[in-house]
Amino acid sequence: MMQRDYRKWASRLIKGKVLFDAPMRQFTSMRVGGPADSLLFPKDMDELKKVVRYAKRKKIPLLILGRGTNLVVRDKGVRGWVISLAQGMKKIQMDGEVVEAEAGLFLQRLVQFSVRKGLTGLEPFFGIPGTVGGGLAMNAGAWGAELKDVLLSVTLMKPDGEIVERFRSRLRFSYRGLAIPSSWIILKGRFRLKKGKKEEILGRVKSYSEMRKRRQPLDYPSAGSIFKNPKEGPAGKWIEEAGLKGFRIGRAMVSDRHANFIINLGKAKAEEVIRLMEFVEKRVYENEGISLEREVKVVGEP
Ligand SMILES: Cc1cc2nc3c(=O)[nH]c(=O)nc-3n(C[C@H](O)[C@H](O)[C@H](O)COP(=O)(O)OP(=O)(O)OC[C@H]3O[C@@H](n4cnc5c(N)ncnc54)[C@H](O)[C@@H]3O)c2cc1C
Repeated sequence: MMQRDYRKWASRLIKGKVLFDAPMRQFTSMRVGGPADSLLFPKDMDELKKVVRYAKRKKIPLLILGRGTNLVVRDKGVRGWVISLAQGMKKIQMDGEVVEAEAGLFLQRLVQFSVRKGLTGLEPFFGIPGTVGGGLAMNAGAWGAELKDVLLSVTLMKPDGEIVERFRSRLRFSYRGLAIPSSWIILKGRFRLKKGKKEEILGRVKSYSEMRKRRQPLDYPSAGSIFKNPKEGPAGKWIEEAGLKGFRIGRAMVSDRHANFIINLGKAKAEEVIRLMEFVEKRVYENEGISLEREVKVVGEP
C-alpha cells in the first residue's frame, strides 16, 4: 500500500491534528530519530476508535506514543501511523479515594492532582516524565514502588474498537512491563489512593524530587534508565565496573553521573545511541557475565 494513501486517510478521518513527516526527535526525550509518516492526535475516544478500526481494516501499522520518554526512534523514522493521546485524552476525576486519569495525561499532573486533594500513594512517581498510559504500559516505578501497586483497573481499547475494563488481578504486570497484545491501547487507569495529610504528602514529593535531581543527569536529553536492573544488582553498578562511565560513540555518551543513562550530547544519531547500547551489553557480558535486558524500546524502521 502506498504511503500517500495512509496520509490522505489520516487527515480525512479525524478533526484532531495530523502531522506529516513529523520529526520524532521533537516528540521523544532522547531527541533522536527520523520522521513519522503521520502523527495523529485524536481529539477524543470516538476519533481514536475510528482510527484503530480503520488501521485494522487497511492493515496500517500503529505505534502508540506517550511522551516518548522511554523510546529510541531509529533514524529512518516510523512507517504507518503514530498515535498520540496527549492532546485529546487527558481528563482526570476523583470519586472519594479513587482517582481516574486518561492515558494522555502527564503522570506528573496526576501526582500533583492527588497532592492537592490530600491523597497519598503516588508520591514516588513524581518526576517520572511520561504519561499515565506510558506509565501503565511500562509499569513505571521508583523508590521501591510500582504504578501497579496503587492501581485498581485499566480501561483498554481493542483493535476492533471494543472497550474493556480489566481489574488489576486480571492483568499481568512485571518489572517495567504489562503484558497486553501490542495492538491494544490503554485508555485510562483507576487508582486507589488513601486520605493523608497534605503537608506530609507534599514533603514526600519534595524529598523524592530532590533525590532524583541529585542522582539523575537531567541536564541532557535521555530516555531514563536504558537497562533493567538484573537480579545481580543495579545495572548502573555493572556498567560502571566495566569502566564505561563517560564512554562515547559519536554524540551519545554513557552518563558519568548515572551509568545506566545514555545521554545525547547534542545532535546524536539514533544509530549512535543503539551502537552504544550494544557496546555496553557486550562489555558488561564479557566483564561480569551479566546479560543486561533493555528497558527502553527501540522503534521505527530498521
Ligand atoms: C529523565 C528520565 C527519568 C526517568 N525515570 C524513570 C523512573 O524513575 N522510573 C521509571 O519507571 N521510568 C523512568 N523513566 C522512563 C519513562 O519515563 C517511563 O518508562 C514512562 O512511564 C514512559 O512513559 P511515556 O508516556 O513517555 O511512554 P513512551 O516512551 O511514549 O512509550 C513507552 C511504551 O509504552 C507504550 N505506550 C505508551 N502509551 C500507551 C498507551 N496509551 N497504550 C498502550 N501503550 C502505550 C508505547 O507504545 C511504548 O511501547 C525516565 C525517563 C527519563 C527521560
